[in-house]
Order: sequence, then structure tokens, then C-alpha cells
Amino acid sequence: MRFLITGGAGFIGSHLTAHLLRTGNEVLALDDLSTGTQRNLASATEEPGLQIIEGSVRDSELVNQCASEVDGIFHLAAAVGTFTISQKTLESLQTNIHGTEVVVEAACRHQRPVLVASTSEVYGRNTKIGLTEDDDLILGSPLHSRWSYAEAKALDETLAYVHAAEHGLGAVIVRLFNTVGPGQNGRYGMVIPRFVAQALAGEPLTVFGSGQQIRCFCHVLDVVPALVSLLRDTGAYGQVFNVGSSEQVTIDELARRVIAITGSSSDITHVPYAEVFGPGYQDTLRRVPDCGKARAQVGFSPTRTLDQIIESVVAHQRAAPQPVLKSGG
Ligand code: UDP
Repeated sequence: MRFLITGGAGFIGSHLTAHLLRTGNEVLALDDLSTGTQRNLASATEEPGLQIIEGSVRDSELVNQCASEVDGIFHLAAAVGTFTISQKTLESLQTNIHGTEVVVEAACRHQRPVLVASTSEVYGRNTKIGLTEDDDLILGSPLHSRWSYAEAKALDETLAYVHAAEHGLGAVIVRLFNTVGPGQNGRYGMVIPRFVAQALAGEPLTVFGSGQQIRCFCHVLDVVPALVSLLRDTGAYGQVFNVGSSEQVTIDELARRVIAITGSSSDITHVPYAEVFGPGYQDTLRRVPDCGKARAQVGFSPTRTLDQIIESVVAHQRAAPQPVLKSGG
């Protein structure tokens, strides 16, 4: 089969591209190369069946052309990372709202199934342990740019859902919970590649806030097959699924584990949110999914532990070192 992956040169997109090519499919990778890179696709270009198109998901003509040439669409293109969102809020909103509108409308026009990548961020300040898909989204004030990513993604979900309900679009929505792994870039804020780069360089690991905030990190190689199964499963259409791990860790503990695994002599420092993001920043204190719905639908069951995830990022960065990035860029 032939698939369009928007954001195909991004972190998740490039792993998905490699997976689809390896399993005998063809891929049209559409990417504006703003945060994605050609290098992410370096190994995939050795496989037959890959076409890379540099362009924007906001370009309706281009997206429609691509949609007409494929059997299904993975819509992963988005402005991502807390640094990106806080520094380029308007541009991020435009990409994340208008880009999705273009992709969903093209999928609808050409009657192609589409998977829309959403985020655990949409649960906002709902700190329930074991969030399920019908739990409330508790977002902060729209005047806090911090929530703009979640607001845009929540609107994306509604767009996809309404096209499914009103026009029979085969749309499946996936809320990703902190997907991590080799190749993720710390430049845009993601904590694991940042901590690993800091530890390998012997620099202090910068924990933002108290360090008591909790996340569950899921390896991208556990996530990618679930995305494929969900898009292939017509029974999943018109529905939303959490996809992530339920192994909880505080960011303090994460920093300690990165230091232990790398054998680094780095210290851990705590940086107030205001120093990184400006005044009034609101972090999400806990984000723990219940992925029972994806398990029941497509057998999703992540197997890689947090230590294995950290080890895979360490191995990757030892081979391809990342610069130690200052807070905010
Ligand atoms: N974080 C941190 N130090 C960093 C980068 C991030 O302490 O250098 C924290 C961040 O404030 C959040 C957690 O790590 O509480 C996860 O951040 P990330 O950006 O990876 O994902 P998020 O869950 O915020 O989307």
C-alpha cells in the first residue's frame, strides 16, 4: 500500500516511514523540514518506495495532490515542543489548526482514511491516574500561550471527529503520551534527549520546576506499529485512542536514572519555570494514561521499559552527539 505521512521527516514520522517501507509499503513523506530533517530519513532512503516532498501541510493544492495518490494518510505534521509553542505561538497555532483542516478536508474529498495525531496535552490539568478517552479535558486559560498547543489539538480532534460523523470520513484520532526514542531532538524542549545530552557532556541536568511532575514515556518503536494497526482497522474509525506507557516517573527520578545509566558525574539543578518560559507558566503535574481501549482494539501493549528507552537514546547520542542546549533553545 502507499501512505502519505505528513511530518514524515520528523521524529515519529521518520520511524513510521522506516517501519512502513520495511514492511513492503510505499511512503510519500511530506515535510516542511522546519523541525524534521532529511537526516532523520537517511536510512529510509536506502529502501525502495520512498518519495520525500518538501512542502507545507497548509498548502491545500499540494496536500490534495498527495492525498489523491495514496491509500491512507498519517497526519503527524505539527509544531511541537514546549519551546516552539512558547516562542512561536501564533505560527504554531496556524500550522496546528489550519494544517489539520487542510489534511482532513483532503482526506474527506478523496475518501482516504486518515490518522490524526493528537496529544495527551489535551487532558491539560486533569491529573487522574489512568486517564481514559472520555475523561474531561481541563485546559487552563486561553490567555496562557502554554495551553495553545492543547487547544489547537483539541480542535483538530473535533474537526476529524465531525468529518467522520457528518461525512463518513475514516478518521482515527490518537492521543500520544510522551513518545520518545532515538533521533528525538532536545532543541524543542523534550526532556529525555536534553537530559542525555547534558549527562554525556558532564553538564548539569536542568530539571524545570519542582521535579515532582510525573510523566510516562513510551518508546517510539512501541508506538509506530499501533499507529499502523489503528489506521488499518476500520473499526477504529470515528474514535479516539490513548497511546502511551503507564510506567510513571517523576522528572527528578528521570534525571537520576539518566545519570546512573550514562555513568555521568553531572549534577542536577532545578530551574524555575519562569526562567525558561516567562511568568505564569503552568506545567501539567501528572499525565498517566489508561490505554485499555487501544489494547482492546489493536492489541497495543508497549514492551520497552523506561531504562531501555533511556539506554536507546544514550546509544544513539553516543553515535551522533547532540549539542547541550540552553533552556529555551
Ligand atoms: N523538563 C525539564 N527539563 C528540561 C526539559 C523538560 O525538567 O530540560 C520537564 C518539563 O517541564 C516537563 C517534563 O520535563 O515537566 C516533560 O517535558 P517534555 O517537554 O519532554 O514533555 P511534556 O510532557 O511537557 O509535553
